[in-house]
This record gives sequence, structure tokens and C-alpha cells, in this order.
Amino acid sequence: MQHKKVTVFNGDDASPEVMKPTVELLQKLDLPITFEFPLVGDIAEKKYGKILPDETIASIDSADATLFGSTSGQSTAALFYLRWGKQTYANVRPCQWIPGYQSPMANPEGIDFIIVRENLEDLYLGLEGNIEDLHALNFYSKHARSSLTDLGPGRYAIKAITEAGSERVIRFAFELASKRAAKKKVTLTSKYNMLSQVDGLFRDIGMQVSQNYPDVEFESFIVDDFLCRMITNPHALDVVVMPNLYGDIMSDGAAGLIGGLGLAPSGCYGDDYAYFESAHGTAPDIAGQNIINPTATILSAVMLLDYLGFTEQAGTLNQAVTQVYSEGKVIPVDQGGNASTSGFCNAIADYL
Ligand code: ATP
Repeated sequence: MQHKKVTVFNGDDASPEVMKPTVELLQKLDLPITFEFPLVGDIAEKKYGKILPDETIASIDSADATLFGSTSGQSTAALFYLRWGKQTYANVRPCQWIPGYQSPMANPEGIDFIIVRENLEDLYLGLEGNIEDLHALNFYSKHARSSLTDLGPGRYAIKAITEAGSERVIRFAFELASKRAAKKKVTLTSKYNMLSQVDGLFRDIGMQVSQNYPDVEFESFIVDDFLCRMITNPHALDVVVMPNLYGDIMSDGAAGLIGGLGLAPSGCYGDDYAYFESAHGTAPDIAGQNIINPTATILSAVMLLDYLGFTEQAGTLNQAVTQVYSEGKVIPVDQGGNASTSGFCNAIADYL
């Protein structure tokens, strides 16, 4: 087996409570992986005088992948580097129910779809400012039938969707769908009626890309209609692709369908790099209580192992999660059980 290096950020607030035991589980698999733990944020600034030191960037660059604990505050500098610096454009968020997950749905059995969220564009470029800075552009709103200068003081944000950025993430979604045993279907969603330029472009490119995949069914829905369909008939979905902001929102909703944020893993893929993190944030409200559900992080580690080519061990770790939930004896608090974070991780370790 080829030797691999993984850079790990334990993250902030409750995040280290799930990251540390997850790395221990990976170590238990006895794989040829070296883990590195570089510093970021306030602690890095104290030692190196920079929130994202060169040493940390070098660690990310020289690793085969990164396992990333959710960050808040200054530590998000590492996240920005992992996204834009490493061009990880496809955020893959699986939503699969397994017995033991406490879904609010009457029939959760068979819910198994993947959201592919565009990860770099849309409203997440951080291009915001004062409306008056745009006055010189003489924008006229056809919808409001007034000029931008008629608006009072306020702020704007730029929603930018590019042809190349859309094409690569949509192609990624089609590739993923064509490899899945299940339905082989791509559902595209955006607000292409109201935002006919930006979201319309995303859909047009979806239609173009779909021509290259005759074996994959293609459908598109306006994002509000999609949300209703996702809730009323999630079983019909296979791979869903959407721009950044919708993907951020919809994937939390998708997590809710199977039982909550504690169950939602995620991987962000570029053409030559990937990092893996839970879909949830740092859960500051439950930090220090040893009750945060580690499932999302453990399943993100499963995705990491798959990416690194350790397919068999990925299957073993995944099976451990399925087994512990289906036995129903050691269930985390957010799923209606009384197992602590460490108790759940110990049960997974015992299975391994
Ligand atoms: P972000 O914007 O960074 O995604 P967020 O605002 O969505 O963060 P989260 O940190 O994801 O916030 O938390 C939202 C809620 O879900 C909180 O009440 C938190 O405790 C809960 N939560 C998040 N992750 C988990 C988990 N793994 N186990 C249990 N509860 C969780």
C-alpha cells in the first residue's frame, strides 16, 4: 500500500471532540498514513505571527488530503485556503438514511441521495460593499422599474456564476451519477426563472453537459419547487447539483430528513486535491459536554479513505457505523440515545 499524508485541523468549539477520536479510529485501522497537525488562527498567530503560517500552507500542499474540523473566527483562514487555494470546487454531501437514525420522516428507508454543491462561486466570493459604490454603473432594475441610484443607503453582494465553474461541477455530478448503481439521475436546481442570467446560465450548462451522458437521466427544478420535492419525495433523488448558497442551505435540510446535522458528512473535491469535513459547524452551544454526535465526522473520514484509495478500510469503517446504529445499544444523544461522544466512538473502535 502506498504511503499517504493527511493534514488534520481539529477545529474550534465542539469540533475537536469529534475530530480527535475520529483520527484515533483512523489510526486504529493501521494504515500507512502519516497525520500532521499544523496550527491556524489565534494560536498560530502567537507562535508564527500569522493566522495562516507558511508552515501550515506547506503542510496542506504536501498532504494527499486534509481532514478539517469546523472552524470559527480566525481559523477560517485555513478553510479559505483549502477551498480557493486548492480549487476544491465540488462539495459532495451524501444524505443516506440507515436504521437507527432518528428521521422525522414516516418512511425514511431508502433515502439515499447526494448533493453536489458548487463550492467556490455564487455569493460566496465575499464581494460585498455599499450600494452607493455601484452608482456610477447606472444600473436599471427591470423588476423594480427604477434605477439603482433610487435605492437608499444599503449594501450589495455579487452573485457570480461562471461558465467554467458551472461546467466543471455539473460534469462532476454527472460522473458521480454514472458511477452510482442506483438511479443514475442528475437533478439540477437553481432559481433560473427569477435569476435568468446567473442561475439560468447554470441550468443552460446543465442541459449542455447532459448531452454527453445519455445513460444518465437529467431533470431540473426551480429551487423552491425542488425543496418541496426533496421533503415530500426524497426517495426520487439520486445526485443533485446546485450553486453554492442553495447547496449550503439544502444540505442542512437534507441532513434534517435523515435525522440531523450530526449525521451529515462532506467532501470537497478539486481536480488534484480534496478535503473532508462534517457538513455541520462548530456546534458552540454543546461544546465541552461530550455529547456532540461524531457520525458526520467519522463518515467524512470514510470518504477520505475512499479518496486515498483505501476502499476496503473505508467499507469497514462505514460498516462499523451501520452496525452500531442498527444494534441500537449505543446511540448518540441527538438521535434519541444516551451515548456520549466518547461512548459512541468506543463502540465503533470495538467493532473495528
Ligand atoms: P455553520 O454556519 O458553520 O455551518 P451553523 O450555524 O450551521 O454553523 P452548527 O454548528 O452546524 O451551526 O450547529 C447548528 C445546531 O446543530 C446547533 O444547535 C448544534 O449544537 C447542532 N449540531 C451541529 N452539529 C452537531 C452534531 N455533530 N451533533 C449534535 N448536534 C449538532
